[in-house]
Amino acid sequence: FVPWEDPDHPPFIEFRNVTKKFGDFTAVNNLSLKIYEREFFALLGGSGCGKTTLMRMLAGFETPTTGQIFLDGQDLAGIPPFRRPSNMMFQSYALFPHMNVEKNIAFGLKQDNMPAGEIEARVQEMLRLTKLEQFAKRKPHQLSGGQRQRVALARSLAKRPKVLLLDEPLGALDRKLREETQFELMALQEDLKMTFLIVTHDQEEAMTVADRIAVMDKGELVQVATPGEIYETPNSRFVADFIGDVNLIEAKVMETSEAGTRLKAGIGGYDIDTAQTTDASAGDTVWYAIRPEKVRIHLGEPGEGTVNQAGGLVWDIAYLGDMSVIHAKIGEGDHDVLKATFANVSRMVEQPITWDDKVVLSFDRDAGVILR
Ligand code: ATP
Repeated sequence: FVPWEDPDHPPFIEFRNVTKKFGDFTAVNNLSLKIYEREFFALLGGSGCGKTTLMRMLAGFETPTTGQIFLDGQDLAGIPPFRRPSNMMFQSYALFPHMNVEKNIAFGLKQDNMPAGEIEARVQEMLRLTKLEQFAKRKPHQLSGGQRQRVALARSLAKRPKVLLLDEPLGALDRKLREETQFELMALQEDLKMTFLIVTHDQEEAMTVADRIAVMDKGELVQVATPGEIYETPNSRFVADFIGDVNLIEAKVMETSEAGTRLKAGIGGYDIDTAQTTDASAGDTVWYAIRPEKVRIHLGEPGEGTVNQAGGLVWDIAYLGDMSVIHAKIGEGDHDVLKATFANVSRMVEQPITWDDKVVLSFDRDAGVILR
């Protein structure tokens, strides 16, 4: 079920030509985006790209300067935050320090005048969902960071909003807890069959939790796609560089055809033969983006007339446990390197590669993407 591939599928959340200015500064620039029911959707971008502003407009804490926002078919203009069918969980959690866990979770329900019996049942359900039963009577200062995070989550979910908005929800947790919590969030979203929208600057987090990711830069969407598409076929140098590690090879177009493209690398001067077609013409300069794990490395020198093979000298080896990253120098400059990784299964043992070794770096015809 991939609603975003069906142009007739109605979106659950829609930003339509939304612009937000703060004085002269444009934080969000004429942005349009559709998010579907039951999606786990991530807004990803560097500091100041406008992702939080976009979410705050959906929540009702900011008003668009121009444009419209729809949620479940309803135009949200003029609707105050507490009347919107969304709920936002803040990075700071904003728990009430003098109230215990139960009371924190019940707070919003009381404000809505829900009958006491129902509140009690709902609080119990939330405690169970977030595995907080044994902490019900504790106050926030008697909890760990991860437990506090779960209380904030339980409180945001208690009203059963149609959309949960998560603003850097895991920012305060250490790496291990963060990774565990990412999987808990995904399980929770599945169980509750809800739409989750998360704001994060952490690309691994977005890749882990999200069905689709919107990469933002300077108030605009750069690419909206699944994690796999974003990683395998980034649409720009910005995305290729922002998500994961990449070799960005400046190259000249030699020949184009329906069957693919011939390039010549600027540094190293090796020929690249790719199955990808391009609208660039012979003589144009393009970028060929290739992930380090798609570059093979072995001892030796490239043969005459080969393609997709560069010769280099091992310049740096970073041992990361599960894998090693090798920087092979292919040109004169300090940064004229190609990066290759290999999994540390047995290859190091079979064929040790070390500093100053002469190596061949090679890749398949469909390993990289041409970017303009
Ligand atoms: P971060 O991850 O650092 O929070 P972000 O992508 O979420 O970044 P926003 O918080 O959306 O960024 O801010 C986008 C830009 O708008 C920033 O340059 C910020 O300084 C500016 N901005 C946000 N809120 C206001 C405001 N109330 N008044 C003036 N400028 C603002």
